Amino acid sequence: SLVVTGATGNLGRLVIESLLDAGVPAGRIAAVVRDKEKAAALAERGVELRIADYSRPESLAGAFAEGDRVLLVSGSEVGQRVAQHRAVIDAAKSAGVALLAYTGVLGGPEADFKLADEHKVTERAILNSGLPYTFLRNGWYHENFTENLAPVLEHGAVLQSAGDGRVASASRADYAAAAAAVLAGEGHENATYELSGDEAWSFEEYAAELSRQTGKTISYANVPGEQHLAVLTGAGVPQPFAEILVDVDAAIARGHLARQNGDLARLIGRPTTPIADAIKAALSA
Ligand code: NDP
Repeated sequence: SLVVTGATGNLGRLVIESLLDAGVPAGRIAAVVRDKEKAAALAERGVELRIADYSRPESLAGAFAEGDRVLLVSGSEVGQRVAQHRAVIDAAKSAGVALLAYTGVLGGPEADFKLADEHKVTERAILNSGLPYTFLRNGWYHENFTENLAPVLEHGAVLQSAGDGRVASASRADYAAAAAAVLAGEGHENATYELSGDEAWSFEEYAAELSRQTGKTISYANVPGEQHLAVLTGAGVPQPFAEILVDVDAAIARGHLARQNGDLARLIGRPTTPIADAIKAALSA
C-alpha cells in the first residue's frame, strides 16, 4: 500500500487527494490516523484506516506492512517529535517497508534554527535504520502567512522581524503533490529533495501584494526580535512558540528560507503556486 501518516492534517489530507487525483485506486491507499472520527471522510472514499498514535509505540504495530511505501508526515507536537518519529521509524523497520519518505525542513542538516532540530535528529534516525528513504525537505508554506490575515488586516501591518529576508514559500498543495509523486512514482529511493517555491518574496513585497488585493494600505512593520516576541505573547501566543517564530524570522533574515533549486517544480511537473494566489484564496475564504 501507499501509506500516509498525519492523514487527517492539512498536508496529509492533500497528499491523499493528490494520489486519488493521479488515479491511484483508493484501495491501494492507507491512512495512519489517531482519530477515527476525524478520518470518516477518508474511509467513505475507500481509503483504508490504520489507527495509531506516534506517542504510543504499541499502537504502531499494525500501522505498516511489508513492502508498503510510507510517508511520515512530521508531527505537530514540537518538543515530543524525536521520540514520536523514532517510534514510527522503528515500526516501519520492523514491518519491512519498501520506502520511508519524511517531510523534514529546507536545508536539512544545514538548517540553523530551533524548529529544525527535531527534523535533523529524525533524518539521522532514518539513515541509521537502513530503510530506503526519501527526504522531502519542505520550505515554508504560503499558508503560514495567509491563514493568519485577520490581525494584519485589522492593523494594516505585517509585523515581523525578518528584515529584508526573502521567503521561497509554496502552497501546501504543492508540497503535498511532491510527496504524492514520490510515493506513487519510481526512482526516489535514497534521494533528498530541497523543496521550495519558484519565487522568493520579501515581507515588503508581501505587504504590497496584500495592499493591491485589498485596496487598503498595508505596510511591513519590521521590528526587532524582542519587540516581535512581545507582540506575539501579548496576542496570546505561548512564550515557547513565540520564541520559535521569532527565531524563524531571524533565519529568514539570514536568507535560510529563500533557498531555491527547482526541486519542487520538477517533482510536481509544473510551476509552484504564487503567493498572490494563496492571498487571493485566503481573502475570499
Ligand atoms: P497539521 O497540524 O495540520 O497536521 C499534523 C498531523 O500530524 C495531523 O494529522 C495530526 O493528527 C498528526 N499528528 C500529530 N501528532 C500525532 C501523534 N502523536 N500521533 C499521530 N498523528 C499525529 O500540520 P500540516 O499538515 O499543515 O503540516 C504537516 C507537518 O509539517 C506538521 O505536523 C509540521 O511537522 C510541519 N509543518 C511545516 C510547516 C512548513 O511551513 N513547512 C508549517 C507547519 C507545520 P490529528 O489530525 O489527529 O491532529
